[in-house]
Amino acid sequence: KMDSFGPAELGRIIPLDSPCDQLADELPLTIADAMKAGQMIAHFQPKVCCHSGRVTGFEALARWQHPMQGVLPPESFMPGLAETDHIALTGVMLQHALDALVFWDESGNHVETASLNISNVELGDPDLSETILQELEKRRLAPSRLVLELLESIVPINSDPVARKNLKHLLEAGCRLDLDDFGTGYAGLDAVRTFSVHRIKIDRSYVTGCDIDANQQRMVSAILAMAGQLGIETIAEGAETQQEHAYLAQLGCDEVQGYAVARPMPLEETLEFMARHEDRIASLPGIVPGKL
Ligand code: C2E
Ligand code: MG
Ligand code: MG
Ligand code: MG
Repeated sequence: KMDSFGPAELGRIIPLDSPCDQLADELPLTIADAMKAGQMIAHFQPKVCCHSGRVTGFEALARWQHPMQGVLPPESFMPGLAETDHIALTGVMLQHALDALVFWDESGNHVETASLNISNVELGDPDLSETILQELEKRRLAPSRLVLELLESIVPINSDPVARKNLKHLLEAGCRLDLDDFGTGYAGLDAVRTFSVHRIKIDRSYVTGCDIDANQQRMVSAILAMAGQLGIETIAEGAETQQEHAYLAQLGCDEVQGYAVARPMPLEETLEFMARHEDRIASLPGIVPGKL
């Protein structure tokens, strides 16, 4: 069964007890082969609104469904990926993200956005914006339904003109921009000043323990206050406990994403998740039933 990864399992390749195990290590299977074979899949992790409890979107996260080793997380295959493979991977993930939006629409479970992670390698691909807009149009999806997640530090300010052009083109068309892992880079504020940032995604390193650790609380509060002043929405990533989730909601964070709500899951499981989630919305931390 496909599964998501807990913190301790990240990067660990689950050993198989099958006799093919030995053989698996010797298979010359590259990422390019894997993509051709349709083994590069997406798992989807929900983002929920702190005010209504509703699912506002899902983030598409790359998974290699390895024939021998099971479902592998990005950190086991993304580091050191060749530039062309990186770009190809984003192409595959774009398809997964947009197909998911169509899938949800057609199933009668409208999900407003799908988020796609974009690295600086892909942002430097001269065809990126054109490809994305074409794929959206092919499916008659409004560009605003696609959220691009960029690390705050890679949002190119004065650097690569190709990257700037891509970003400008996509934002003008209506795609949304979230600054991922906010607080870990160094160019976040510069990015906010230069581009219309839709949301900042507060890095998990600030979220962990924010309900009990005074220093974490101060950092999260300060980031939320800054975002409020700038008129930017906020999402906290990596809330693992109900207490963290409740505290973030109480502080006024707009959305939360983390194991406390759900782990990343295969697309087929998202419908069941949403049905279950609807039932438990009223009991989510920070949700006032009357406000629904
Ligand atoms: P990210 O975009 O910051 O994604 C969040 C990561 O945190 C995901 O790990 C997710 O599974 C994990 N996570 C979510 N909630 C929790 C939680 O409550 N606790 C903990 N401990 N972890 C949580 P994942 O899927 O392994 O992805 C890792 C990174 O790989 C992503 O970080 C992103 O930078 C990169 N990545 C994933 N998919 C893609 C992709 O399609 N393209 C690109 N360029 N990068 C990708
Ligand atoms: Mg992300
Ligand atoms: Mg992140
Ligand atoms: Mg992260």
